[in-house]
Amino acid sequence: MKEKLMTMLEDRKDEMIQIRRHLHENPELSFEEEKTAQYIADFYKGKDVDVQTNVGNGYGIIVTIKGDKPGKVIGLRADFDALPIHEEADVPFKSKNEGVMHACGHDGHTAYMLILADCLIQLKSSIAGTIKIIHQHAEEVPPGGAKSIVESGVLDDLDAVFGTHLFPTDPVGTVGYRSGYSMAGRSYFKLVIQGTGGHGSSPQNANDPIVAGAHFVTAVQTIISRRLNPFEVGVVTIGSFDGKGTFNIIKDSIEIEGDIRYMNGETEQLIEKELRRIVGGIGEEFGVQCELTYLSDYPPLYNDPDITTRVVSTLKNANDETITNVIEFPMFSGSEDFAYYLQKIPGVFFYIGCKPKGVEKAYFNHHPKFDIDEDALLVSAKSVGYVVCEYVGQE
Ligand code: MN
Repeated sequence: MKEKLMTMLEDRKDEMIQIRRHLHENPELSFEEEKTAQYIADFYKGKDVDVQTNVGNGYGIIVTIKGDKPGKVIGLRADFDALPIHEEADVPFKSKNEGVMHACGHDGHTAYMLILADCLIQLKSSIAGTIKIIHQHAEEVPPGGAKSIVESGVLDDLDAVFGTHLFPTDPVGTVGYRSGYSMAGRSYFKLVIQGTGGHGSSPQNANDPIVAGAHFVTAVQTIISRRLNPFEVGVVTIGSFDGKGTFNIIKDSIEIEGDIRYMNGETEQLIEKELRRIVGGIGEEFGVQCELTYLSDYPPLYNDPDITTRVVSTLKNANDETITNVIEFPMFSGSEDFAYYLQKIPGVFFYIGCKPKGVEKAYFNHHPKFDIDEDALLVSAKSVGYVVCEYVGQE
């Protein structure tokens, strides 16, 4: 099955590129991907598979490819939403949807996955097990689509789950992996400090929330520097301090917003606990009312070490001239809602190099000039194809 699948994928490389260009020209924002979802559903029309649409809290699609023989059940995920960015990349298939752009490569993820899925459908008689293709909406905007798809129960029978992401840091042929915690979890907080407004000349008749807020900003710096184990990774950033007023008026209230990143759940718990403690202290110390909103966003992404090892050796032993370099990547401080699948199902999320040829330094994901080398689509399809053969393929 393996050789057959690889030949089929090679033969359909141009088709992957065409699909990617079509999606690139017609990007849609998270939770609004109606036409993209329709395009994906149409692709499967008349094919011998079960297609579930509108899965989760948006346009998620699950395609179930049941092999002729029993075996493991695995999930393959490709996301399909775009970003609110005005495209500046100089490509002939530029976005036709003003202000919206596929600047994170999700068009490429979907393009390779459709062709891979179609090939697997044709190879059903050689498959021992079931493959669920997860076409996921809304990766970019919290709460994301992944969590709701997991909660819908459609993936309850999965033994393992896999996903890939295009990254232009490395040239085509590179497959990057990282075992264990590999992408950051993220939380948001907002603190409203309610003091008592008054005349700038008479602070004794007021209660200044700016002074309380300034102490809070300073105290928060000690969470990472004094409370967190120096061998752990964490970030607390105050990105907004809304205290603008007039020089001779003491403000009534202020609002502070911040961003928190961490590489594991224990670090998040520690940061949240310390943040709440400091907020309580500020309230006591300054006699102000503090209202804290704390929202956990995407969790840290954890790649199962055993499955990562198996995937890495599968790819290294594939002896495929399109997969030239299988290397360990550093941790990424970015976040991914694929982490929700991995919280429930063991699996691995790995990276596909797509740096455009002849470019010294590529524009990174989410840049208005983000672009990919489309040869990376075949590398994505083959890499995931090898993993599929390893888990459910029969000769
Ligand atoms: Mn992405």
